[in-house]
Amino acid sequence: MSVNKDFFDPTRAFNYDFQSTGAPPTGWEGADRLPENLVPTHCCFCGVQCGMYLEVLDGSVVGVQPRFSPHNQGSLCPKGVVAYQQVGHPARLTYPLIRRGGKGGRLERATWDEALDYVVHRWQEIQAQQGPDAVAVYSGSSMTNEKCYLMGKFARVGLRSRHVDYNGRLCMSSAAGAYAKALGIDRCPLPMTDLLLTECLLVVGSNMAECFPVMMQWLWRARDNGAPLIVVDPRQTALARTADLWLPIKSGTDVALLNAFLRQVIHDGLVDEEYVRQRTVGWEAVREAVEAYPPEVAERICGVPAERIIAAARLYGRANRSLIMHARGIEHSTHGVDNCLACINLALARGQFGKPGGGATMLTGQGNGQGGREVGQKANQLPGYRHIDDPEDRTYVAKVWGIPVEEMPGEGAAATEMVRLMAEGQIRSCLVICSNLMVSLPDNAVVQRAIENLDPLVVIDFFLSETAELADVVLPGNVWCEDEGTTTNLEGRVVKINQATNPPGEARRDWEIICDLARRLGRGQFFPYHSAREIWDEYRVASKGGVADYFGITYEKIDAQDGVFWPCPTLESPGTPRLFTERFAHPDGKARFVAVTYQPPAEEPGGDFPFRLTTGRVVYHYLSGNQTRRLGFLNSQAPEPWVEIHPRAAQYLGIQNEERVRVRTRRGVMELKALVTEAIRPDTLFIPFHYGHREAVNQLTIPAVDPTVKIPEYKECAARLERIEAPPEAEPAPPRENFTPANAPKMFPYARGERKGPVKEVGKEF
Ligand code: SF4
Repeated sequence: MSVNKDFFDPTRAFNYDFQSTGAPPTGWEGADRLPENLVPTHCCFCGVQCGMYLEVLDGSVVGVQPRFSPHNQGSLCPKGVVAYQQVGHPARLTYPLIRRGGKGGRLERATWDEALDYVVHRWQEIQAQQGPDAVAVYSGSSMTNEKCYLMGKFARVGLRSRHVDYNGRLCMSSAAGAYAKALGIDRCPLPMTDLLLTECLLVVGSNMAECFPVMMQWLWRARDNGAPLIVVDPRQTALARTADLWLPIKSGTDVALLNAFLRQVIHDGLVDEEYVRQRTVGWEAVREAVEAYPPEVAERICGVPAERIIAAARLYGRANRSLIMHARGIEHSTHGVDNCLACINLALARGQFGKPGGGATMLTGQGNGQGGREVGQKANQLPGYRHIDDPEDRTYVAKVWGIPVEEMPGEGAAATEMVRLMAEGQIRSCLVICSNLMVSLPDNAVVQRAIENLDPLVVIDFFLSETAELADVVLPGNVWCEDEGTTTNLEGRVVKINQATNPPGEARRDWEIICDLARRLGRGQFFPYHSAREIWDEYRVASKGGVADYFGITYEKIDAQDGVFWPCPTLESPGTPRLFTERFAHPDGKARFVAVTYQPPAEEPGGDFPFRLTTGRVVYHYLSGNQTRRLGFLNSQAPEPWVEIHPRAAQYLGIQNEERVRVRTRRGVMELKALVTEAIRPDTLFIPFHYGHREAVNQLTIPAVDPTVKIPEYKECAARLERIEAPPEAEPAPPRENFTPANAPKMFPYARGERKGPVKEVGKEF
C-alpha cells in the first residue's frame, strides 16, 4: 500500500460529509485529530474512476479528499464524496448467515466453516446428480479486474461449470457487441482529454451530467472552445438544457434518427470519401439502407421535427472533428447493437475514428464496466477478450490455468438467460457476487420466482441487498478500499485501487472467500494466491496476446504513469491512449460499416397503455442503490422514486405535482409520487431505477432483450398512469401462472429464443 501525503491540505481536513449532514460518520473517534495517512486511490462508483485520497486515522477510514488524476483534475461528485462512509457503516455484514428452517426460515449467524462447508456440500451433491453446469456464477463489474478475472476462472476451473456471466450484460453488452463487430475492439477510442480537441459533440441517450458528473468539466471546456452540443434524449436532462440543439426523441426509435442524420450527411456531400475508401468496407450497403430515412420519414417515427434533424445533421457533418457519445439511452434496447452501429456508421462516414477528438464512444457506467467485460467473466469469453469457442484461445488459457484443454467448459448462458434456466431447474444453485438481481433485472416478479427455485442461492456482499435477503447463504465480503487491485475506467485507462483499511468483524476479502471455496471443492491447487497482486500478475499473462492485452501493465507502471491505457503488450510499452490512428483491429486493418434498419421496440404504447415508460439514473444513486441508499446524504436527496410526467399529460389526467399516482404495465403496478415537469415528452413517463421492493421500477419493465447480446429493453415499454384517489382499476395486475419447467420459456420471455445465427456470427467479436 503506497501512501502519499504530498497533497495533504490541513484546511481540507474537515470531512465533506460533516458539513452536509452535521454528524460524523460511524466509528469516528477523533474529530479533533488530523488523519495519519492519506491513501491515494480512486472512487468506487461510476466509470470515470476519479482520483481521491482516503483519510485514515487509527486504522479506520474517516474521510476523503479529492486527488488530481489526469481524468478528474481533482474533482469529485456527491457520490464520490461520501463513498468512504460504507467502510464503517452499521449495516455492514460482519459474519456469515445461513437460512435455517428451510426456504421459509430466517437468516441466522453461522461460522465460516459451517457456511462454506454447507455450500460446497450442496454444490457437490447437485453436480453429482445433474452435472457441473447445474451450478452457476452471476458476477459483476463494480469489482476490481483481479476479482472479475477470478470469478471467470472459479466458475470454469473451481466449479467446472460453463455458466458464468455478469451484470455488464445489463448495461454494456450492446456497445461491446457493436464496437467489436465494426472496429474489432471494444474500447473507448480516445482519452477524455481529447474532448478539448473536438469541434462538435453529439450526445445520444446519455444523462451525462447526472451519471458522470465529473466528466462534464471536459464537455464544458470543449464548449468553451466553441464546440456546439447536440443532445438526443426524450427528457430535457441537465445536459439537454444547455444544448445548442435538443432533439426530444421517442425512446426506442434511435436507428431512424441516426440513419436520417447519415442520409443528410450524404446528401450534403459531407462524406469523407477518401477515408471510407481507404479504411473501411461495407459502405455501399449502408449508403443504400439510409436512403429509406428522409427527415420527414424519420420525423414520423421518432417524433423529432424534420428541420431539427436536418439542422443537427449539418451541425455535426460540417465539423472537422466531431465526437459522438452514447450510453444506456440507446443501448438498453432490443435493438441496442443496431443503435450503436448506427452511431459508428455516422462517425465512419465522416472519417472521424483515429482523429484526435473525433470518433464515437460508449460511456461505460459501472466503476469497472470496461475491465469487467474483458477479463473472462462473460458467458462466451476467456481472459483478454479471448473467445471460449476459439481452439487457440482455449489452449492458451488452459495452459495458463494448468488444466487440460479438454476440461475447459464451453459457452454458457447469458445473465438474462440464466433466469429461465433457474426456473426450469437446469441451474439449481448460483453464486451471486457484486449484483442485485432483484432490483436490476426486468420484470422482477418472475426473477424472484426463479431465484427462489435455487437451493442454495449463495450471495457474497457487504450489505444485505434485496437479493441477499432471499439467499440461503450470505457471505460477508469487502468494500473497495479494504483490498487492493485495479480497475479500467471508461476511457480504457487502468488505475490502481489501494487498500486503506481491513474488512470489519469476520468479513473477508472477496478473493479470499473464492479461494477458500475452491480449496474446499478440492481445486485449491489452481487458486494458490496470497494477494491481489498475485492474481493480477496471472491475469496479465492470461491476457497476453489477446485483444485486450494487459501484459505490460504492472502495478508499478500504473503508479508511475497515474494510469495505463490498454492494449499494453510489453513491459516497455507506455500503453495506447488513442486507438485506430493507423488501422482498425480487424485482421485487414479496416473498419466494417454495418447496415441497420429501424425496428420498433418490443412493446409500443397504445390502447390501455398509452405512455412510453423509460427508466434511468439520478445523480445521488449508483446502480441498484444497495450502497448509495444507505449513505445518509445521498439518500436524503433522493429517498424514494418518482414518476416524471409532462404538464399536458398531468392536466389531462387531473394529476397535481407531488400527488401519489399509480403506474401500471402489463407486468405489474407501482405507486409513487408524481413530478410534473416540462422536461419530458408528453407521451413519455420516467422513473429512476435505484430502488427495491415495491419501489423497484423493474416490477414494470419488459423482459424483452436484444437478440444477439441479450441486453434488456429497460428504456421503453407501454404504460398507463392512474390517479390513486380514483377507484381502483377494475382490471387487476395480470394474473401470473405458477411456473413449471414446461411453461418457463413462456413466462421468461427474455430468454425466449435459443441463440440463433447472430450470436455466433458476432460472438467471436464481442
Ligand atoms: Fe465517483 Fe463517478 Fe462521481 Fe467520479 S464522477 S466521484 S467516479 S461517482
